[in-house]
Amino acid sequence: MSDTPRRLWQPTRPLAHWGRAALRFVFPPSCPLCQADVENHADDSGCPPVSPLLCGRCLIDVSKPRGNRCQRCGLPVGPYVRSDHGCPKCESHKFRFQKVIRLGLYDDALRQACIRAKATTQFPLAAALANLLWLSEQFDLQTANVDVVAPVPCHWTRRMLRPHHAAETISRVLAGRLGKPLQRRLLRKKRLTSDQSDLPAAQRRLNLKDAFAVRSHPRSLAGKTVLLVDDILTTGTTANECTRTLLHAGAKQVFVAVIAVVP
Ligand SMILES: [Zn+2]
Ligand SMILES: [Zn+2]
Repeated sequence: MSDTPRRLWQPTRPLAHWGRAALRFVFPPSCPLCQADVENHADDSGCPPVSPLLCGRCLIDVSKPRGNRCQRCGLPVGPYVRSDHGCPKCESHKFRFQKVIRLGLYDDALRQACIRAKATTQFPLAAALANLLWLSEQFDLQTANVDVVAPVPCHWTRRMLRPHHAAETISRVLAGRLGKPLQRRLLRKKRLTSDQSDLPAAQRRLNLKDAFAVRSHPRSLAGKTVLLVDDILTTGTTANECTRTLLHAGAKQVFVAVIAVVP
């Protein structure tokens, strides 16, 4: 009896495989970053597929050796440094989230890819970067044992001007990989704020003070662990303010997942 589900599944698998193969023959997959044709990737053979992915050359460009990183802020630390409670760069920050799970640092090719992934037509690139994050950090993402996945929100006026919101695309991919519900409207941004990157560090928290709110009924968040998703983490102020809002609404804890952290 134990292998019944497998027997039921097996006959459909070749059909799914040939269906995908036929689709690839008619529409050869291309790299979302350089548009080169992408060969069937080794990690793209299972079910569900992990596409879209970058081509081998772009993959090498944006991927760096994993290296030791701070367990709290995600920045690189020396090989023997213990960072369970933070590193010298983040010890003074009152981060309320548990840790930052990230693909890489916001520099060189990954920086360029993150900038491009924000453009309206570039949602396949944002999805490809999310898939890379999943392939690289699957262990941390799974052991966080989250109940729900939610993107850092943008104000509705920005959504009108730019319908593609990279954080939302990334959170959709991660929710699918984790098999957890995506609540893309869990948080909302109540007011339009100045661009954080234009402000000195001291003013960033003031700029975002009470800028976020939870949409759902607070009881639906009670005791839940949330995976909060964004594309880039700069000083952590935005993620921290969103976390504060989620905890205030009853969430038990918040993990942050981003493509890149600014060194
Ligand atoms: Zn490429
Ligand atoms: Zn740190």
